[in-house]
Amino acid sequence: MKKIIIVNLCIVVCFSAFAQTKSNENSSDNVAVEYLNNSFGIYDKLQKTIWANPELGFLEYKSSGFLQEHLKEKGFAVEAGVAGMPTAFVATYGSGSPVIGILAEFDALPGLSQDTVPYLNPLVEGGNGHGCGHNVFGVGSVAGAVAIKEWLVVNKHAGTIKVFGTPAEEGGGGKVYMVREGSFDDVDVVLDWHPGTGNGVSVGSGTAIQMIDYTFHGTAAHAAGSPDKGRSALDGVEAMNYMVNLLREHVPITSRIHYVITYGGEAPNVVPHYAKVSYYIRSPKREILKELTEWVGQAAEGAAKGTQTTVTSEIISGFYEKLHNVSLAELVQKNLELVGGVEYDARERAFAETIVKGLNNDVSTLKEVQEIKPLEDEKPSLGGGSTDVGDVSWVVPTISFRTAVFIPGSAGHSWQNVASGGSTIGTKGLLNAAKVFSLTAIDLYTHPEWVESAKTEFEKRRGVDFEYVPLLGDRKPALDYRVKK
Ligand SMILES: [Zn+2]
Repeated sequence: MKKIIIVNLCIVVCFSAFAQTKSNENSSDNVAVEYLNNSFGIYDKLQKTIWANPELGFLEYKSSGFLQEHLKEKGFAVEAGVAGMPTAFVATYGSGSPVIGILAEFDALPGLSQDTVPYLNPLVEGGNGHGCGHNVFGVGSVAGAVAIKEWLVVNKHAGTIKVFGTPAEEGGGGKVYMVREGSFDDVDVVLDWHPGTGNGVSVGSGTAIQMIDYTFHGTAAHAAGSPDKGRSALDGVEAMNYMVNLLREHVPITSRIHYVITYGGEAPNVVPHYAKVSYYIRSPKREILKELTEWVGQAAEGAAKGTQTTVTSEIISGFYEKLHNVSLAELVQKNLELVGGVEYDARERAFAETIVKGLNNDVSTLKEVQEIKPLEDEKPSLGGGSTDVGDVSWVVPTISFRTAVFIPGSAGHSWQNVASGGSTIGTKGLLNAAKVFSLTAIDLYTHPEWVESAKTEFEKRRGVDFEYVPLLGDRKPALDYRVKK
């Protein structure tokens, strides 16, 4: 009995000693973390408001407005309508260096309307939904920035914090226009996150992407009465797609090429004089992407020639692959471990278990949300998705991480993600992200040499001859890309 008491006592003493060390280590950071611990209600309400108003890329007037309003209330100077995009903004607090930037996304996806219940139940049939968790993304970034501001004020410390409100991540590439415009020119380090099914630092470079629409023009005619007078624009599209499907075998294995025919005619008895196909071309390396894009363009021209039609192309968007930064990755990993994972209460656990069982997975997979993934070694990208964070990472040292907002096993852009992102699980995930932002920014403000080592690594990785040339050329933001025509 005595032994048990002694052991128990030791656990209590040892634990409080550990807790003490932890809190001492962060004593100067407590203002930020405490602010976040006391602000659950504020950010729960804000993320749920944006969740309840899901707006598509470049149309996020309300969502962007809610975030700007909160930042203004907290003393940030907000510049709205940046880089020719009405919903883009830059919010700044503080003065002097280092200047730390935080990225905030807020666009939703079409067709993913869903209630916060663990079974499929759209709120509006065919309506928009936050399937990528950008409601949580934007609010987590804003909460982090406000917490950092609290710390700067209390500690009377030099340093600037900037929130970049970046619209239309889902295909519109808002960040690329901001990079092209020079919005990041005075920033020393950019911190970025994304809601995930677990907690960890993102080390992959993903793929660079070029999005291009090809429009074919032919001659309309009665498809049965006078087909010889017609030249089918749809034939042009089909011939192009056929050639691209043949060339797939001869491109590097990590390449990705996908297309959808966005217009192919209305009636089979009319030879279509107009047809359109939308392409996404991807590669982990920009140099290879350039070659692939040229080849796909040659297929378009060849197809037009062979079908006696004409073709025009329009670059819709283009993103760089991501440039990694180990110095920043190690710093963020340390802070993720200090913050820890997400702890569900009984109600959240029941919700999560229902989703996991619906996906035919074991409930033991839920432990992923409580754990922090060890920092992975960098390895060559084998393909995968693309993000407009890529362009930012080539002009400023940038690091991305994720916290557990979605239920493990859920697919990206799924109704399950809309459901959990709009619940208190989403709020817990975003507050953890905000804490990681705060601790990392404070580390950088108090250790300028860490900023320098991140910059040195960045310069070395991108090379002395690097020159930023956007993959979308000089096109204006495609502000209407989500407007139904
Ligand atoms: Zn996303």
